Amino acid sequence: MIDFSIPPELEAMRDRTTAFMDEFVYPNESQLVEDEGLPVELERDLQRRVKALGLWAPHLPREWGGMGIGFIGQALINEIVGRSVFAPRLFGNAAPDAGNAELLLIAATKEQKEQYLRPLANGDVRSCFAMTEPEVAGSDPTGLKTTAVRDGDNWVINGHKWFISGAIGSTFAIVMAVTEPEAASHSRASMILVPTNTPGFNIIRSVPVMGSGGVGGHCEIRFEDCRVPLTNLLGEAGQGFKLAQARLGPGRIQHCMRWIGAAQRSLEMMCAYALKRQSFGEPLAKKQTVQNWIADSTAEINAARLMTLNAAWKLDRGDDARVEISLIKFFGARVLHDVIDRAIQVHGALGYSKDTPLEMFYRDARAARIYDGPDEVHRQVVAQRILKAFETQN
Ligand SMILES: Cc1cc2nc3c(=O)[nH]c(=O)nc-3n(C[C@H](O)[C@H](O)[C@H](O)COP(=O)(O)OP(=O)(O)OC[C@H]3O[C@@H](n4cnc5c(N)ncnc54)[C@H](O)[C@@H]3O)c2cc1C
Repeated sequence: MIDFSIPPELEAMRDRTTAFMDEFVYPNESQLVEDEGLPVELERDLQRRVKALGLWAPHLPREWGGMGIGFIGQALINEIVGRSVFAPRLFGNAAPDAGNAELLLIAATKEQKEQYLRPLANGDVRSCFAMTEPEVAGSDPTGLKTTAVRDGDNWVINGHKWFISGAIGSTFAIVMAVTEPEAASHSRASMILVPTNTPGFNIIRSVPVMGSGGVGGHCEIRFEDCRVPLTNLLGEAGQGFKLAQARLGPGRIQHCMRWIGAAQRSLEMMCAYALKRQSFGEPLAKKQTVQNWIADSTAEINAARLMTLNAAWKLDRGDDARVEISLIKFFGARVLHDVIDRAIQVHGALGYSKDTPLEMFYRDARAARIYDGPDEVHRQVVAQRILKAFETQN
């Protein structure tokens, strides 16, 4: 028998998370400055409160100051946190820091963990992840051009990256660079830890984007003879793609968990407004078109939630859940977009205004179909795996 009930301990955590969102997050949304986040003192104060409530860092084990609740637990908490754009930072699990912390947990040495993971896990510093390059397709990172060449005790890094989220104000970057140019395509790149104050780590600009930007922007960076010790290698040389998969799997599903929250909140706003707004002598809620939108949105959100929990369950069992994560990545991004779109439509001009969170949700949702792999690539992964299995069985 499949039991869908939530264990009491997790239910209690969810209640505390919801109470915190009600008391401290929604009332402070008006203080959010796009590309900057909340005022620093306010953010620090709210982070302290989250820690005191035992809700800090759902993605990290307890020994690193996190909640230690596995992927299913994270899915259930992140859905609530995802209801507000800036809440993940308050709960210590915003992208890209959460994915970077998970990567450091699996690949960093003891010394690297103390130097980089400890302050990241505490929320004392921010980090960024530098893989994508403007000159080559991000969907196919085997073409990466950034190089890291051994020179004595150092790596010398040269290259051009962009869309590096959160780079401004980050203390370190995890950089994907070609270190083994003669190796097979998936063994050419490595990951290297680069403190952002290293000479040659040059932020060119924060690329202006459609969405809310997020703290630290989405930056274009040039590495110009940027030297770091050989000991800054993360994992082994040539392991970059393997580590990228290990990082992006959990990272992607965390996005999907948060999208459910944003979609659910949009649906609730749609219902509340439809009941209140009168048109042609009756509330909008009486119109069949609006009822269809509410029913369709509920069905799609429920499906996305169950697919996310299924992927989380597999990850908790040690499976890489490659197909399940790709499925929810493209399906969840579409659900997010469509539900917000309907909610905006029901709100009319108000939905198009900045007086509700819907317009920011909508702008951010467009990126969800591109970052961490575009929809088309995830569909391809799913179809290829299914076809391969089908061929083998028949
Ligand atoms: C908001 C945001 C934040 C980001 N943050 C980071 C970050 O922190 N660090 C980082 O390294 N990168 C980051 N990225 C980059 C992101 O990972 C890439 O944009 C993504 O991998 C796609 O690469 P690309 O933009 O080069 O598109 P391309 O690879 O050039 O693809 C362009 C389009 O071609 C189509 N396409 C590609 N391959 C296929 C295929 N196999 N079949 C059919 N169609 C296909 C798709 O429609 C795709 O959108 C971010 C991007 C965004 C939008």
